[in-house]
Amino acid sequence: MSSRLRNFVGGTHVESADIDYDDIVDPSTGTTYLSAPSSGAVEVDLAMQAAADAFEEWHCTTPAERQRVLLRIADALDTRAAELMSAELRNTGNRAAGAELPVMADQLRFFAGAARLLDGRSAGEYMPGHTSYIRREPLGVCAQLAPWNYPLMMAILKSTPAIAAGNTVVLKPAETTPTTALMFAELVAEFLPPGVLNVICGGAETGRLMVEHGTPRMVSLTGSVATGIDVARVAAADLKRVHLELGGKTPVIVCADADLAEATRTIVAAGYGNAGQDCTASGRVLAAREIYDDLVDALTAAAQACHTGPPADPATSYGPLNNARQLDRVSMFLHRLPPHARVVTGGGRVGDVGYFFAPTVVANVRHADEISSEEVFGPVITVQPFDTEQDAIRFANGVCQGLASSVWTTDHARAMRLSRRLDFGTVWVNTHLMFPSEMPHGGFKRSGYGKDLSLYCLEDYTRMKHVMHRFQ
Ligand code: NAD
Repeated sequence: MSSRLRNFVGGTHVESADIDYDDIVDPSTGTTYLSAPSSGAVEVDLAMQAAADAFEEWHCTTPAERQRVLLRIADALDTRAAELMSAELRNTGNRAAGAELPVMADQLRFFAGAARLLDGRSAGEYMPGHTSYIRREPLGVCAQLAPWNYPLMMAILKSTPAIAAGNTVVLKPAETTPTTALMFAELVAEFLPPGVLNVICGGAETGRLMVEHGTPRMVSLTGSVATGIDVARVAAADLKRVHLELGGKTPVIVCADADLAEATRTIVAAGYGNAGQDCTASGRVLAAREIYDDLVDALTAAAQACHTGPPADPATSYGPLNNARQLDRVSMFLHRLPPHARVVTGGGRVGDVGYFFAPTVVANVRHADEISSEEVFGPVITVQPFDTEQDAIRFANGVCQGLASSVWTTDHARAMRLSRRLDFGTVWVNTHLMFPSEMPHGGFKRSGYGKDLSLYCLEDYTRMKHVMHRFQ
């Protein structure tokens, strides 16, 4: 019998009566080791009430007070890194989870400082005898929905700016990966007043109840495009503010003058890291015709040097996919490839225990192919040739998503031209998958709207009020 996780609401674990429980599975073995409540209306109500109660005092704290608390939480995160990362590794199979902890602590420290930097731009006498100024205020309760690819990072990345700006939060991790978000809620409860951060478990139904609920003033989702469209539609019923970080289809344009060795190393690391389950994974390579064959060969050799296996094994390059549904989805893309596409290496599941998928390179793909436009979210790198810079832009921008992109070239003018024309929220030049806390992360088109990270994100979690005083 697996042990049961409990929601964390109002500063404590709460029992949930008469509801179903979801199995929590170790993706390396496929075995269930925990279960988590599939929260219903009662649980959602309780969490929203706790967050609303906590808001009454939390929004009156000074930025300096919020900064002090967040800095202490960052220190506690450092201290408990080992236990958090071992739980994350078991729940996700992501062997790089340990390396991400300093990044998360930095995000916490960034938003701790950022809490003190919100500004109203100016105050003045814009009409005779009157003084106007701007107040930046928190919104209230924020409902947050997180995906399963980086559960702890998502919990921190989403909740910290909201809390730093003076809001309170009800966060729902994905149904397959609730463990570390709950541990984080426990950890912060030592520093934050009860109810400032509440974590409830459940799947899409629970998420829907949160979006429909009358209490939150904002819904923030990191997830798929389809979920984003549904959340925006439901939130429109009472005009809640919506913040959407959705899927991508990241193009990697490799020009003929690029440093191929460096490009290959980065594409493989950013394409297979976390088994390719990254919204900005470098899975869609567009290669200049002159270097196309060389790049396919180099990527194939690098892929064949990668090894998927249990995350604890030092020989492992990357671990399993997170769940059986994702294994089916990635396999489906490979089964549905058109005849002209060529699987150069990999192409299927590895073993029959857990959800491991081989490092895969697919060459000769064309722009109209399903795999060129749909997010795979697995360790699959496709390579498509292009003849002109114009074609590279047309292929890169010719998808519905607009999250991130990268350009590989040693020609400065070309890099400037391409980065201007790429229709993506991030353009990396001669690098990929880098996220400084100071810079905004967020997409265009169907990759959503609103920014994570940076001061822009903090502003997203505030509302602007004009106050005007007559003094004559
Ligand atoms: P998902 O959209 O299925 O789920 C995300 C969260 O929303 C989960 O907590 C889920 O339970 C909840 N949810 C699902 N349907 C819902 C609904 N109709 N109403 C309310 N809540 C609902 O995404 P996933 O499969 O967990 O994660 C993978 C996706 O997330 C990929 O598309 C990936 O690109 C995207 N992602 C984007 C970013 C980014 O920064 N843009 C980062 C990580 C992941």
